[in-house]
Amino acid sequence: MATVTDTPSKTSTNGQHTNGADRPNSIPSVYKEPAPIVDRDNPLESMMQRFDRAAEILKLEPGIYQYLKTPVKSVIVSIPIQMDDGSVQVFEGYRVIHNDILGPSKGGIRYAPDVNLDEVKALAAWMTWKCAVVDIPFGGAKGGVCCDPRTLTMAQIEKITRRYTANMLDVFGPDRDIPAPDVNTNEQIMAWILDTYSMHVKRTEPGVVTGKPIVLGGSLGRREATGRGVMHSALRAMEKIGINPKQATVAVEGFGNVGSISAELLAEQGAKIVGISDISGAYHNDGGIDIQKAIAWVESHGHLLEGFPDAERITNEQLLTLDCDVLVPAAREDRITKRNAHNIQAKLIVEGANGPTTAGADPILESKGILVVPDILANAGGVTVSYFEWVQNRGGYHWTLDVVNERLATAMNSAFDRVYAASLQYKVSLRLASYILAIDKVAKTLRLRGIYG
Ligand code: GLU
Repeated sequence: MATVTDTPSKTSTNGQHTNGADRPNSIPSVYKEPAPIVDRDNPLESMMQRFDRAAEILKLEPGIYQYLKTPVKSVIVSIPIQMDDGSVQVFEGYRVIHNDILGPSKGGIRYAPDVNLDEVKALAAWMTWKCAVVDIPFGGAKGGVCCDPRTLTMAQIEKITRRYTANMLDVFGPDRDIPAPDVNTNEQIMAWILDTYSMHVKRTEPGVVTGKPIVLGGSLGRREATGRGVMHSALRAMEKIGINPKQATVAVEGFGNVGSISAELLAEQGAKIVGISDISGAYHNDGGIDIQKAIAWVESHGHLLEGFPDAERITNEQLLTLDCDVLVPAAREDRITKRNAHNIQAKLIVEGANGPTTAGADPILESKGILVVPDILANAGGVTVSYFEWVQNRGGYHWTLDVVNERLATAMNSAFDRVYAASLQYKVSLRLASYILAIDKVAKTLRLRGIYG
């Protein structure tokens, strides 16, 4: 049932053994002269355009370049489910392991109707770079199931999750590949993954998945970790450009786990949240939106929906271009593009989502002097606490919330400082600096390990 595409193991070109000693001084011929950036709204293209620029600056050898741009494994599975009326519906599921040089591969699983292999490949590569940027010993992976959870019952979502997990038994494992929540997946779904995997291996294996309920070995602070990391990155960046958080105005796109918690924690720091949005619409209030009230509204209504009190209804496009100091895109990919980047008024963008800005928008934002804290840095708090969760599972021990949050703050702030220093050193954006640091780390590890084959 599973279609497994393994990258040929001999990825070094010309059969040469790649190590640091034979790094060419000139740009290897595999690079085309960086093409003018085209905005194709394809996350994989956007990832590759940034990767190519960083690889060029690092003068990456052709073999290492080929190795790092290609996922080591892409798995496609079919997920047949018996629906409530007895009919059978077949869903498609993906898991892409982009790289496992630094350690077991790590990354979430998303359930959405538009999930596709290219998107999952881009997201898997971003996980490799993200783990390297925050210096945790994981490679990168991502999974997805093409389905619309809004039209499915909990029982159907459970069946999909269990069949997907059963089909991925050869892929997942606490020392191989460790899934986690992502768009439209949650602690309950992680619990079903844990249970299905554990039933097959005939022992309870908490370390096979992170973002679990606490009672099953989840970590305190994991649920809030991505938003907390966004808050740390935002504060660090505000300090660099002289924005006082207590006087800052913030717009947050997306009100799921990442957006709502980022908004809540930034409000706690004294910032005024002037705009929020979710799938049902965008809302604006210059006087500030009460985030606790918005969270309670979503808890009782499912969405913000029309009728959310104390705010004026605006379009999502207006939300992105609101007059504010900080914009936190925390929804999906390709929201800030070359079509709307010119109109962005924020001075700082902190990317809570993965890939919210296309490569085509990068130079526009740069020319406008907008500081962008890129996704692979800004939203790395989630995978950082996933790593803490995995460490706790392996040690059979629980850390207190204070310990988790303190270690998260240290990890996020030191990653920010490393990226900031690299951006000064190479005279590039924070995004390119993050890619440079990440690719350099994975490449150095690869040269030490060498190519088996
Ligand atoms: N889905 C999250 C991300 O994109 C978390 C991944 C994880 O914890 O493994 O970073």
